[in-house]
Amino acid sequence: VIVGAGIVGAACAAALTGAKLTVTVLESGTVGGGATAAGMGHIVVMDDNEPEFALTKLSRDLWDALVPSLPGNVEYERRGTLWIAADEEEFAAVRFKHAYYAARGVRTEILDSGALHSAEPGLRAGLAGGLLVGGDAVIYSPCAALWFLRQAQAGGASLLNAEVLEFTADGVRLADGASISAGHVICAAGAETVRFFPEIPIRPRKGHLAITSRYPGFVHHQLVELGYLKSAHGVSNESVAFNIQPRATGQVLIGSSRQFDVTSPSIDARILRRMLRRSLEYMPGLASLSVIRTWTGFRAATPDKLPVIGPHPGNPRLWFATGHEGLGITTSTGTARLVAAGIAGHAPAIPAEPYLPARFLEKPHAPAHHHQD
Ligand SMILES: Cc1cc2nc3c(=O)[nH]c(=O)nc-3n(C[C@H](O)[C@H](O)[C@H](O)COP(=O)(O)OP(=O)(O)OC[C@H]3O[C@@H](n4cnc5c(N)ncnc54)[C@H](O)[C@@H]3O)c2cc1C
Repeated sequence: VIVGAGIVGAACAAALTGAKLTVTVLESGTVGGGATAAGMGHIVVMDDNEPEFALTKLSRDLWDALVPSLPGNVEYERRGTLWIAADEEEFAAVRFKHAYYAARGVRTEILDSGALHSAEPGLRAGLAGGLLVGGDAVIYSPCAALWFLRQAQAGGASLLNAEVLEFTADGVRLADGASISAGHVICAAGAETVRFFPEIPIRPRKGHLAITSRYPGFVHHQLVELGYLKSAHGVSNESVAFNIQPRATGQVLIGSSRQFDVTSPSIDARILRRMLRRSLEYMPGLASLSVIRTWTGFRAATPDKLPVIGPHPGNPRLWFATGHEGLGITTSTGTARLVAAGIAGHAPAIPAEPYLPARFLEKPHAPAHHHQD
């Protein structure tokens, strides 16, 4: 039984049916309608730490292998990520990242100031340079989640529109009173996980996005300021960073913001303004574009910025696939691979230890009311 049909639960369903297991997916809303519908859909290899790099690289490789099968509405485009260095200090980080990725088998290209402006003429003058990670891509994540789920259904999985009220020792109890037992139950409920498992230290991290009308050719790569590393991976309560993306439709998707300790999903005009101003500092021409929609979503953030993947140390039938923060679209494929290998008893493609829930749940019988921060 898989609880949650976001991109993570759906990818797990596809991988587990592929491993010949019998799968039932429980979703209280719509498939891919949670954080998955809010995300940017950037498939990106990230180097914050070794386990993050290992999981994002594995995941990007798995996406690459799926490309020939992906339907058109997934809008997969290998745009590449262009990390932008505003000054010499950030350009030093470009050289460091280039060497780091090269040592781990990922090809990147250093662009000096001139090459950066040829690649993206809309960027303001005077930027120091950039790093092009050519294999990174862009997808439309809600359709990717739906596609994974359809793959699972084609392999025999069933989908139930049902709300889980409680995880029991051998399964789940639903809002309509029914109970389902299963050999394994996987919690893929995203930021909702804390409702059931407050002992797992996931905090919702709100994000805003804005999308423009159609301007084909306005931007060519996913553009991210290197300062993003400071804002996304710091732990400050509120930050914005220049992060824009060309959509297959010709639209420009503008991000992004990060806020802890906010529970309301409504648009916060103040932070949206900060975010858009930041984008204009890098790409002044954005000011002439028309934004047609803005929205927010919640990332499931963990204190060590790694997802929670694996069995509960006190109950080997209960598994987690959650806590993916701002990388769950990317790492859905790698997560599904780890979950399927673990449940089928196969060796994992990469070491599974860094993501295990046990790092937060040392005592097998930790009481449910025990919070960790
Ligand atoms: C603004 C923003 C930008 C982002 N950009 C990117 C990006 O560019 N690249 C990237 O890789 N990631 C990105 N992310 C992160 C990514 O969107 C998430 O990590 C990912 O979607 C998480 O997927 P999930 O399946 O774990 O969660 P969700 O999509 O939230 O799915 C969880 C599902 O569980 C269901 N559920 C919850 N509780 C219950 C219950 N009790 N019973 C039944 N069903 C239940 C929900 O209805 C939901 O459908 C971004 C996130 C945000 C907010």
